[in-house]
This record gives sequence, structure tokens and C-alpha cells, in this order.
Amino acid sequence: MTDTHAHLDFLELQELEEVLLTDLKAVLTLGIDPARWERTLGLAQGNVYAAVGLHPTEAHLLSPEVEEALRHYARHPRVRAIGESGLDYHWTPGTKAAQMRALDFQAQLAEDLGLPLVLHVRSKDGQAEEDLAAWLLVHRPKRVVLHAFSAHPALEGAGLEVGAYFSFAGPLTYPKNTALREAAKRLPKERLLVETDTPFLPPQAKRGKRNRPQYVRYTLEALAEALRVPFEEAERLTDENAARLFRWDNGGV
Ligand SMILES: [Zn+2]
Repeated sequence: MTDTHAHLDFLELQELEEVLLTDLKAVLTLGIDPARWERTLGLAQGNVYAAVGLHPTEAHLLSPEVEEALRHYARHPRVRAIGESGLDYHWTPGTKAAQMRALDFQAQLAEDLGLPLVLHVRSKDGQAEEDLAAWLLVHRPKRVVLHAFSAHPALEGAGLEVGAYFSFAGPLTYPKNTALREAAKRLPKERLLVETDTPFLPPQAKRGKRNRPQYVRYTLEALAEALRVPFEEAERLTDENAARLFRWDNGGV
């Protein structure tokens, strides 16, 4: 099993040890603001790899100094993606222009370093999803992940057109989310990923609890059911997709 999206720096020490002891093939931990980059890289050992970036809710922090620091950390050999970037009009609707600037900067950095770009999107009315879909069609990043994919139609269309990876999180297990399971079924198999967004977004079986990478199993079970394949096949598929995208076996230190 592979967890392609976690925030391990939010976990307690004991929770972290459990992660490192699991038989997860790989975990990508994302450091989402400048104060978290150093610690995130410190956690990137063994089966844990890192991404560094500026979350859209932190986009107002972008400055020449922060750009310089991000360029520096992004060159670390355990860094396998830039992000998460994206657009969030739910928590920080007042910083749209800053979010777009931070998105453009991180997309360019990902392209310069040949790394995948991980994208977050959230809004009450779907406007962030519409804007991100439009952005994707203009900028057409070469390797991009739609994290915690929610099956917004415009974003799905744009993602398909640019060859994005679609990463499913705990909501795939919610009983009411039939539409999301149908999306998983119709998307190209070689573009499917699973993630937890630890410590957020727990799956149905763990609702109300803090999420952790091991719980990616529940999302993977839901994916296998949606695809009507055995668990092991869904596991092999998403392990291979993640390894191809993030190049786990390429120059690991
Ligand atoms: Zn996240």
C-alpha cells in the first residue's frame, strides 16, 4: 500500500513510530508552509518521501526569501513533489491573487526540477474548482496530482485532458459518496492514486479519529470494490502508479 498524501509533521512521536514500522510501500509527507519544511525533510527516511510547498491557505506568505528557501529545499534528494499548491476559497477567499501567484511559482519550480505538482482545491460554490480547471488547461503541467479528488466535473475534464493523476482519500469510503466511486470507475486505471491526508479526512471506519497512513487500507478497499477487482489488484495498481509518478526507486538516499 502507498499513501501519496500525508502530513506526518502533524503527528505525535509515538504515532510517527507506528508509521515507520508499517509495511506501507511508501508515504509522501507534504510540508505545507516554510516553518514545516525542515521537519518534513527530517521525516523523509526509509519508506517516507517528502514534498515541499506552500498550501493555498498560506499563499500570502510568499516573498522573495520564501521563494529562495523553497527552491533550496526542493532540491533535496528525498523531495519527490512540489506542493501542495492550488486554490482554496473556503478558508482564505480573500487571498485569491496571492494564491494564483503561489500556484504559478510552484508550477514553474516543479517544471524546472522535473517534479510532480500536487494540487489542493476547495470552495463552497465550486468556483475554486472552475478556476483551477481553467488554470490547468492553460498551463498544462507535465506531471500533476489532483489531491483528495472530489469528482468536480470541470476539474475531472481538465485533469483528463492534461493527463493528471487522481488521488482518492477517505471520502471514497463514505456511504453517500456513490458519485465519487463512479468517478473512480470511469477514470483511466493508470492515473489512480490513494492517500489519507493524515491527520485529516479519516475514512468512514475511523470517522472522528485522527487519520494515519495505515488507514489508506480502507480507501483502497473502497477503490477495489468500485473497480470490481480483488484488493491485491487495486493495491498493485496504485503502488505502481505512485512509484512511476514519484520515482521512489530513483536515487533514494
Ligand atoms: Zn494535504
